[in-house]
Amino acid sequence: MAIRKIVKMGDELLRKKSKTVTKFDDSLHEILDDMKETMYEYNGMGLAAPQVGILKRIVVMEVNNMYLELVNPEIIEAEGSDIEAEGCLSCGKINKKVERPMKVTVKAQDRYGYDVVITGEKWLARCICHEIDHLNGVLFIDKAID
Ligand code: ZN
Repeated sequence: MAIRKIVKMGDELLRKKSKTVTKFDDSLHEILDDMKETMYEYNGMGLAAPQVGILKRIVVMEVNNMYLELVNPEIIEAEGSDIEAEGCLSCGKINKKVERPMKVTVKAQDRYGYDVVITGEKWLARCICHEIDHLNGVLFIDKAID
């Protein structure tokens, strides 16, 4: 495993749309392992592949002591609304309030290509939305309400 360099705000890589993962092979596992290590190294709650310079639909997160890795995640249900201040490993010390759904259900694949469906509330829902936004070239500052 290796700690990867975090791509910072201003780099146009963060504004690109990531591609669907089609191969669930050793190179995907290496990316996931490196992303996990990098997220922990920088004390992030989540990390999306574009943040380490890889334009693939891969995210990792740890919320409520539960580590999750999602490949090709897609929100299939969202409800409610919640406002909290967010930050991002790519955006330095900026913290801004963002409105997100209170609860989301996400459909994705695991590292082996098996389908998974996860429902998260509050911070898990927020983190899932934030990381999926990265896969579409969107940063939380785009949605900040303060
Ligand atoms: Zn982020």
